[in-house]
Amino acid sequence: MPPDVDVAVVGAGIVGASCAWHCASAGLKVAVLEAAGPAEGTTATNMGQVLVEDGSPAEFELTRYSVRLWHELAQELPAEAEYRPIGTVWVAETDQDLQVAERRHRFFQDKGIRSELWDSERLRQEEPQLRAGLPGGLLVPDDLVVTAAPVARWLLDKVRSSGGTVRDHTPVRGLARGQVELAGGGRVSATHIVNAAGVASPRLSPGVPVRPRKGHLIYTDARPGFVRHQLIEIGYVARVLDVRADSISFNVQPRPGGDIRVGSSRQLDRWDLTVDPAIVRGMVDRATEFLPAIGRFPLERAATGLRPASSDGLPLIGAWPPQDGVWLATGHEGLGITMSLATGRLLADHLVGRRSEIPIEPYLPRRVLGRAAHQPET
Ligand SMILES: Cc1cc2nc3c(=O)[nH]c(=O)nc-3n(C[C@H](O)[C@H](O)[C@H](O)COP(=O)(O)OP(=O)(O)OC[C@H]3O[C@@H](n4cnc5c(N)ncnc54)[C@H](O)[C@@H]3O)c2cc1C
Repeated sequence: MPPDVDVAVVGAGIVGASCAWHCASAGLKVAVLEAAGPAEGTTATNMGQVLVEDGSPAEFELTRYSVRLWHELAQELPAEAEYRPIGTVWVAETDQDLQVAERRHRFFQDKGIRSELWDSERLRQEEPQLRAGLPGGLLVPDDLVVTAAPVARWLLDKVRSSGGTVRDHTPVRGLARGQVELAGGGRVSATHIVNAAGVASPRLSPGVPVRPRKGHLIYTDARPGFVRHQLIEIGYVARVLDVRADSISFNVQPRPGGDIRVGSSRQLDRWDLTVDPAIVRGMVDRATEFLPAIGRFPLERAATGLRPASSDGLPLIGAWPPQDGVWLATGHEGLGITMSLATGRLLADHLVGRRSEIPIEPYLPRRVLGRAAHQPET
């Protein structure tokens, strides 16, 4: 019997949706199976920032490629995607931070990424609400912001229009060779199975080193134009890399309606989605250290989401050797929106044997086999 589909994708978050869309665009017959509604997992609660990051060469290549794919898709995105190329400003708090900004600027220049180094005065001119005396910042003008959930739903609509199926409220119980077992009974047979179940991916593929890293976000009513760019403190990257410590970083984003989204916290191995008032207070306090006036605006609400954190900070994209025919697309931590388009494209290229634009090797899951879970690389 031929399989029901070429590719069964488990999970309809932004990563699963992108994998399904790229596979369908490559001519494969696709079925998406989602336990809840599309884009109701972590894809529903995040900052939606799409940015080039330089934490490692592999992270840089994947984020650079994906940012380009987002810009290429921009004209087609629906209005609800709220695509806005507002750029990122990495804000230095200390002279040491400024040196990091200078190094990042040189690196970006070498690699052809536009960036501008701002001194203290220029930073205040461009973002007058930032407190006086900050030493400077780095503008990366081609970073952008989207609202991910409607993008995921739109990609899934495109999968349907190319003959694929999307089944929501269809939890998957297990993956056997070429078979997806549905919790409600029944199976879907597939040549390839893509596990894009985010933080739940290890439940379907035992041994996958992905753990939840809970994050809080706050929505604050502010006046339009209060800040103009996505603002992130330079120290953010070091806190992302230090998986063992709970942390809060200054990360603020202007929204189309004038309100401000304030991020963000990190807590490893927290599965609950409760909002912790102490974390919210900590985030407001941290934001106020950079933007003294932000404390005056009413907090509208807070929300949480679970980042799927891999053991080495890179996503897992490609075959999972312990399960024949199973491919992973998971472990994107705080860059899943950014990396989603490139992830789907790389995976589809690999499945149809097409040459991909960047090598998939650094992201192949085989690298984590035999390694203990969560040994941060130094
Ligand atoms: C506070 C916060 C801020 C963030 N900010 C950013 C940002 O600015 N930029 C950025 O790039 N990223 C950001 N992220 C990270 C980003 O949101 C995630 O990396 C991304 O959403 C992960 O997408 P996903 O599709 O892998 O997972 P999910 O969106 O969680 O999707 C997984 C899906 O799988 C389904 N599923 C699970 N188990 C099963 C099963 N057994 N059967 C069927 N379906 C199943 C789930 O229901 C879910 O819908 C942020 C995250 C948080 C929490």
